[in-house]
Amino acid sequence: IPTAITKISPTLWEIPVSYKEGMLVPARIFATEKLLSEMDAGVFDQVTNVASLPGILKYAYCMPDGHWGYGFPIGGVAAMDPHTGVISPGGIGFDINCGMRLVLTNLTEEEVRPRLHQLVDRLFARIPTGVGCHGFVRLSESEFGQVAEQGSRWCFKRGFATQDDLDMTEEGGCFAGADASHISNKAIQRGYNQLGTLGSGNHYCEIQVARPENVFDAQLARAFGIDIPNQVVVMFHCGSRGFGHQVATDYLKLFLSVMERKYGLKVVDRELSCAPFRSPEGEAYFSAMKCAVNMAFANRQVILHRIREVFSDIFQRDPFNLGMKMVYDVAHNTAKLERHEIDGKQREILIHRKGSTRAFGPGGYGLPECYAKTGQPVIIGGSMETGSYLLAGMAGGADAFFTTAHGSGRTMSRHQAKKTFRGDKLQRDMESRGLYVRTDSFGGLAEEAGAAYKNIDEVAETTERAGLSRRVARLVPIGNIKG
Ligand code: 5GP
Ligand code: MN
Ligand code: MN
Repeated sequence: IPTAITKISPTLWEIPVSYKEGMLVPARIFATEKLLSEMDAGVFDQVTNVASLPGILKYAYCMPDGHWGYGFPIGGVAAMDPHTGVISPGGIGFDINCGMRLVLTNLTEEEVRPRLHQLVDRLFARIPTGVGCHGFVRLSESEFGQVAEQGSRWCFKRGFATQDDLDMTEEGGCFAGADASHISNKAIQRGYNQLGTLGSGNHYCEIQVARPENVFDAQLARAFGIDIPNQVVVMFHCGSRGFGHQVATDYLKLFLSVMERKYGLKVVDRELSCAPFRSPEGEAYFSAMKCAVNMAFANRQVILHRIREVFSDIFQRDPFNLGMKMVYDVAHNTAKLERHEIDGKQREILIHRKGSTRAFGPGGYGLPECYAKTGQPVIIGGSMETGSYLLAGMAGGADAFFTTAHGSGRTMSRHQAKKTFRGDKLQRDMESRGLYVRTDSFGGLAEEAGAAYKNIDEVAETTERAGLSRRVARLVPIGNIKG
């Protein structure tokens, strides 16, 4: 931890511009003293690098689940002036629009337990997992362009989505301004057969229970559809797969070739490769990024369709009769133009959120009617062993452009976790605790051990104390398919 850091409050820390040459704004880290001490040195180094990017407004932020990432820390937030600022793929992440979706059921844990193995096995059979897996939706390359431009709306036309699903997705499941002419053939090649796939590692589809003792705010829980004791819900996490990864790779490379030569931009770390937002290259990336965002929304939508089919098969009831309505879908790797108040004035700014979640409070614009008074639902994973959270955006979020954490965040590198834990033993241990997990890779499972992550209860509580997001319910896992 840098000695120059000052404590603004018990949950907020600041590193001044004097800390490092080139910093344009201070860096701010939301964390308790304990969470701060658990952050790797990369966080402080990277968040202060981000603070030197042209056009950055107010502060470079890091959320309580922050840890080292590519260029920007995971848990990073950076808002840019759209006229003078840059856009940087490292501030969005390789898995563009990686995100979390939460779906209700009206089943209780008691009803699901006897069918749990069957349910998880069937989900595992029906939702492709693992690196490079292929989906069941057969698409031509040109149809894939439509998916990239239309996101969940394409799914609606094809019968994979309801209007309510679209309404319960951030931005209605489609970022406007996605133009498939900005994506490379290589990206299309990697993506067109991956719709409806979970991918590997940290991506998952989890069956969870909302136990009465874990409901923090019964009124908000009811507003979000959690209103029966031991209600079963499904949370899943995945993104834009190989497609988004290729889009990020293509533009990182392009930006490196023009950044200095054409625009005279110097950055302290090559991983901060960027271009002026208002430049042909910057605009092309923004549009290509939106294609990947939309592909990810469509990906989660097709997976939801499959989850409903599986539940319907096993319980022999229609999915809507099973109450399988979406709570919400939130993205945690994006850049967006949003309206925010800066120094008393409403302005449109470009916000990078990388491993951080938009968390609009009550009255936030563009929220579905049913969440206008509650603030938007925020969905964050903990780990496959410990639990996860449903939260709600708060008015205090204005301090960080209405952004909160996206998970618990790693404390142990994947490599170290793999050396420390054994996947097959982990699976048996979890099973003995009533948690049934299926995976493609025991090595991958070991990397995901609960002990490799920070304490999710501390992270969620910290976001609440910091005024970023209010705890609604803690969700306990009983079944999981891991990529
Ligand atoms: P990321 O998007 O940075 O890869 O991960 C998001 C977060 O999801 C992680 O920080 C971690 O807290 C959480 N997570 C990873 N694997 C699982 C899982 O299997 N189940 C749950 N509930 N959360 C997980
Ligand atoms: Mn991801
Ligand atoms: Mn993610």
